[in-house]
Amino acid sequence: MIDRETVDRIYAAADIVEVVGDFVSLRRKGANYQACCPFHNERTPSFVVSPAKGVFKCFGCGKGGNAVTFVMEHEKMTYAEALKYVAKKYNIEVQEREMTEEEVRRNDDRESMMVVNGWASDYFARQLNDSDEGLSVGMGYFRERGFTQATVRKFLLSRQRRLLHHCRPR
Ligand SMILES: [Zn+2]
Repeated sequence: MIDRETVDRIYAAADIVEVVGDFVSLRRKGANYQACCPFHNERTPSFVVSPAKGVFKCFGCGKGGNAVTFVMEHEKMTYAEALKYVAKKYNIEVQEREMTEEEVRRNDDRESMMVVNGWASDYFARQLNDSDEGLSVGMGYFRERGFTQATVRKFLLSRQRRLLHHCRPR
């Protein structure tokens, strides 16, 4: 695993505008930067990066985080992979040490839970959006329960499509 000191160095070096800017074209707006969100389909930008706070936040879909979690989400990397990616960008040598047995076990449990969760959520979102039954029964159920389209989207029940060409930053 990557030692604590290296992780601290990576976070200290990571400039969120530079890291996010490698994937998304950001426009300066006052103290912040703006773009169309890379995580959901939108026409007007609601994705904001704050260099002062070192965070990003989308006011459309609610996704937010720091430079490292952005890389994780955007590039579908594990935390360690994202750390290494950012380290490489800033020429930081990554010190790794062997994990103890206990750490390996805990990590495996967590990673497999995340894989299972991710797969299940994707599967159900697909069923909900792309099958006749999903659209009639599933969506009907949500409507009956009073969930708005926005709520369904926010909690990722609805599949997010990446159709970035529809988005035109001003
Ligand atoms: Zn978004």
